Order: sequence, then structure tokens, then C-alpha cells
Amino acid sequence: MITHGSRGSSVLGILALLAMTLGGPAPGSAQTDDSLVVHGPDDASLSLPVGRLRGYSTVPHEALLQLGWAVEVDPSGLRAQLGRGGPLVEFSLDSPLFRWDDQLFQMVSEPFSGGGSIQIPLQFVADFLPILAAEAYSFSPDERALEVLDASLWPGNRDETRRLEATRGGIAIQSGFADGSDPDREEVRDLQERVVVIDPGHGGSDPGATGSGGRREKDIALAIGRYLEAELRGDEDIEVYMTRDRDSWIDLWERGPRATEWKGSHSGVFISIHANSSPSSAIRGFETYFLSEARTEHEKRVEAIENAPLLRQADSNDGDVEVLDLTFIQRDLEKFNHGHWSNLLAEGIQAEIEDVHPGPNRGVKQAGFAVLTNVLMPAVLVEVGFISNRAEERILSQGEFQREIAVALAQGVRGFLERYPPGQGSTVQDEGLRKE
Ligand SMILES: [Zn+2]
Repeated sequence: MITHGSRGSSVLGILALLAMTLGGPAPGSAQTDDSLVVHGPDDASLSLPVGRLRGYSTVPHEALLQLGWAVEVDPSGLRAQLGRGGPLVEFSLDSPLFRWDDQLFQMVSEPFSGGGSIQIPLQFVADFLPILAAEAYSFSPDERALEVLDASLWPGNRDETRRLEATRGGIAIQSGFADGSDPDREEVRDLQERVVVIDPGHGGSDPGATGSGGRREKDIALAIGRYLEAELRGDEDIEVYMTRDRDSWIDLWERGPRATEWKGSHSGVFISIHANSSPSSAIRGFETYFLSEARTEHEKRVEAIENAPLLRQADSNDGDVEVLDLTFIQRDLEKFNHGHWSNLLAEGIQAEIEDVHPGPNRGVKQAGFAVLTNVLMPAVLVEVGFISNRAEERILSQGEFQREIAVALAQGVRGFLERYPPGQGSTVQDEGLRKE
């Protein structure tokens, strides 16, 4: 089910923006990475410890207590409720997805158990809280400080005797899928069908990168996307969708929810097609990204380039956007680790492109791309070459090479789908490969 509303638009849009700005520490801020200042009422302040046990910034779950949440920890994750009868949040360990009441959101990294606590990505506190609970929190990126606006949440002002359970009545937080109810055969066959969503990058008013020969990234991405669509269209059991099939612009934060709606209860993959650019015209080669926190300067730079349309669109965007109802994907989320599978899909695609591309193979990389946020299936962003390199600009503009790249992408997808579990009614294969 899909609902429409401008509130969802502003939330998703701003979240995507913030995910970009917080993709990595600001230059020179590395030394302040060990704490987050929180300002409260009457000039009070406190400091939350920030750890990097897995290479990305997290706060221990006790930090939520200090921010006015009631917290309940169990072996699979934690639930928390803001203030008295406020929103209910649910995290699962090692999944970047979390629930906020009946909505689902995705962070660029995952909560995990470590240091005697559940470590929650700092992004939740810095990006999501000020948007989803704007009346309670605001965040200043310059100061790297959170402000608690609702004085009743501040330690000492709270009724410490309240219990999470007491205020949770009536909120259904269990899975809507009954265990052991096998779907009938027809449904099983139907669910063998896979969905492939092709996302040609940029488009319309956003040309993406432009080469010195005048070739535009948006045209190359669309051409390869069309070849890929044609290649996969003939596959039985694969249903193909394109986020755009012409020179038009689709907001970055709308592409994921649309793709997720098309996928429905099937299993599917999302491929965003781009061409890279670099200040150095000598740089060439292909690389494939999955959604996670950017680690290297190169990853952060590519992330900033691909998220840049958000800045241009931010002021003018006022349209409706689809907001996900999470029910139909609940089972998927419980069973599948999309980060792991996205990485696997990226590796398969890199290997296939290597066969047709002069290279070099620059490998699988990770970054916090807005377009992959809220794509609730394995998702990758492929940079098929550097348009800033003369030779690659030329070859990327040739129909034959575009088709070869598309065939390689299709092969990568097919190889992946052979290993990836189909939809409901199937068993999970490759269980041993899942990330611990
Ligand atoms: Zn791009």
C-alpha cells in the first residue's frame, strides 16, 4: 500500500540531504569524533560518547536514555519510546533499517552489539531525530551539537518511574506474517518472479557530469539503462522497471520508494547507472558501490558528486512523494541482510564488466548515496567509466560499448539472482554467507 503526503516528502528529502552532509566527518573534525555535545534547557549540557568500533560513528544505547527515551533491549535489537506516549522506534542488530512508528527508514550503517551496549549509528541522532522529532531536537552540524528543545525530556525533569510497556498498548509491533502458513502453489510460482529496477542516473535538468567532448552522463546512463532493459526483458521470471526511460528528472529520494513499491513482495534488485568524473583526466576505470558509510576520500568525493542534485533541488521541491507502508516487506527485512547481498551483487557486476571494459577494475566501494537510501532491496550504483577521461568518454558514447556494458550488467544480475532467495514461500539459501 502506498500513501501520499507532503509531510513524507519533506521528511525524506531532508533526510537524504542530511545523510549526504554527514557522510563523513567534516575536514579537521576527526579529533572531536569521540563525543557529541547535547544542549538542554537553562544552559545545561551533557556529552554523549561517540565510538567507532566498526569504523563508523555510533553512540551506545544508553545515550537514548539521556535524550529522554525509554529503552528496552532484547537479543535481536532494541525498542525505544520517546517521552510519554511518543513515537516508538525499533532497531534490529546488524540491519541498517529501523522502524519509526509505522514507517521504515534506512541508515547508512547498522546498529550492533559492542562495548557492552548496543551501538546505534550517530546518524540516527544527528540526522533522523531532528527531522522525525523536530519538536524535540535540533542539530547543528557546524557546532556538531544536538539541542534538546523539549525540556520535559531532559534528565531530572522526567518521570523516571514510567515504563515502556505501560505506554505501548495498542501499538502492533510484531510481524504481520504468521509462521508456518505455506502460500498456495500459484502464489509460490508467482513469487519466483524477480523484479529488476534500472535507475539511469540524473536526467532532465540534471545532466550529471559532462566530458570535455560534450558528452553528458545522463545520456550515457539512459542509453545503457535502455540496453539493459532490452536485454533482461526477454528473461522469463524477470520483471523489469525503469525509474526513467526518457530524459526526465526524478527526485533522488523518490526513486527508492518507487522501486520498493514495484518490487512488492517479490525479491528484486536495484541498479543505478552512472558515469564518473574526476579532476584528473587521467583517471579511468569502473567501480560499483553499495550503500554504506563512505570511508575513503575518493568514496566521499563520488558520494558528494552523486548527491549534489539534492542541493539544487532542495529549495524548489514541494511535491508529493510516496511513503512506504512497511507491512508487505516485513518478512524480507527479517530474513535478508540487504547490505551483504548488495555487496555480493556489486562484486558480481564488477567481475562481469571486467570482461568487456578496458579497465581498470577499481573494485567494489561504498558510500552514502541518497538514491540508495530507502531502496529496500539489494541495491548498487555502478560507475561505468570516467567521462572526464577522453578515451572513456569516447567509448562510453558508442552504442556497441553501451550494449556490451548492459549485457555485462545483465549477466551480473542473473548470476546474483541464482544465489539470491526468491520471494515468500521459499527457503533462504546461502545462509552461511550472511554477515555475522
Ligand atoms: Zn552520476
